[in-house]
Amino acid sequence: MKEFQLITKFFKPLTRNQKAARGLADDVAQIADLAISKDVFVEDVHFLKSDGGFKIASKLLRSNLSDLAASGATPLYYMLGFSKNKNTDEKFLSDFSRGLESVQNEFGLYLIGGDTVQSDKLFFSITIFGKVKNNKILARNAAKVGDLIYVSGNIGDAFLGRTTKACHPVLVTKSLEHYCRKPRNRRKVTTCGKCEMIARLLTRHFFPEPRIKLGEKLLEKNLSKCAIDVSDGLLADLTHICKASKIKAKIQLEKIPFSPEAKKIAGKNLLDLITGGDDYELIFAVDPKNQKKISALAKEMGLDLTQIGQFTSSTKFVVELYDQNKKIKLTKLGYEH
Ligand code: ADP
Ligand code: MG
Repeated sequence: MKEFQLITKFFKPLTRNQKAARGLADDVAQIADLAISKDVFVEDVHFLKSDGGFKIASKLLRSNLSDLAASGATPLYYMLGFSKNKNTDEKFLSDFSRGLESVQNEFGLYLIGGDTVQSDKLFFSITIFGKVKNNKILARNAAKVGDLIYVSGNIGDAFLGRTTKACHPVLVTKSLEHYCRKPRNRRKVTTCGKCEMIARLLTRHFFPEPRIKLGEKLLEKNLSKCAIDVSDGLLADLTHICKASKIKAKIQLEKIPFSPEAKKIAGKNLLDLITGGDDYELIFAVDPKNQKKISALAKEMGLDLTQIGQFTSSTKFVVELYDQNKKIKLTKLGYEH
């Protein structure tokens, strides 16, 4: 059974339509002025033990923060579910806690509890708490017909970093270790041009940038009511907005922002980039009258905010993708758990 069928059939009834659950159809639950979200990371699915504690912990907390970003909430606290086995030695533990610490320092949140278990396969879980201001929250079900569809940053880097074969894998790993050290201990590793690109793309995989500030600003300035973060894939996550908002999304492939490295490596395989996931950028809906204000916000934040399409009225709550006005048949939308 697919993830969403399973949730709808077996778990949604347990919410008894409590408002806090937000229909099990949003990035966060909400209790009073707290936004809450949970993520579980499993060995060999979300991480390899060879990634090491620093990268695993960084990605875990950063991707969970991204759910808060998608709701426009401000990070406060988190609880940690931790598994241990013979691989979680002192070095792993020290790296893991250093990874969490660096993200805490960057985003101003603190650990307040958790649980620790023994397990052959490693898995880690975080429950994160954020503050909702003025009872305003970005929701998946708030897109309106005519709203423009925006995406932050660029799409596909993490997928390419993860899937592109390096000519010098050891040097790529070393180059990444550079990001795992305290700034004063960093050494730059030089390798070939392609491997340098892969290392850059892999930083986007291990150290995604949760768009907390963007979520907060969109609410503060009344520029959007609707957002989602891209975890499963641009197409898959935009489809979640369509279903929740009962609306169709039309987007143009040529407008989607890809990094220069991504364009170089992916060539014509752009569909992989928009179904690959792990971008942790925000997709958000904007009333056309606010277009100029969005451009100003992009400038203010030094962050690309790109319009990639528009929501239209339809009885089909789907994403339509166009390449130079030609509709592209979609066989896959994103990663399914
Ligand atoms: P995200 O990718 O943003 O973390 P998910 O796709 O994992 O969100 O989940 C979508 C919605 O389903 C969320 O509201 C989440 O709380 C809910 N959900 C997912 N798994 C479960 C579960 N096992 N029990 C209850 N709710 C769940
Ligand atoms: Mg999410």
